[in-house]
Amino acid sequence: MDKASEHQFTELHVKVPCCDGETSLNDLQYDWCAGFARFSIEILNPSSENINHCMNKLEEKLFCSIKKVVAYY
Ligand SMILES: [Zn+2]
Repeated sequence: MDKASEHQFTELHVKVPCCDGETSLNDLQYDWCAGFARFSIEILNPSSENINHCMNKLEEKLFCSIKKVVAYY
């Protein structure tokens, strides 16, 4: 994480000590949902039934995949 921070998180590639494997900081499992992004879109109190449909539509419009990170304040 410190190494990625030095480059403003433009490179997320990491070698993990548990199995000497290679992955991305974005794909690790954290205690809480987390992600690294170039931008964020916040939705306050979304209805759970529409969120997956909205995410699919957003991915189509943005031409990229998106990751849902649930935040509790
Ligand atoms: Zn491992």
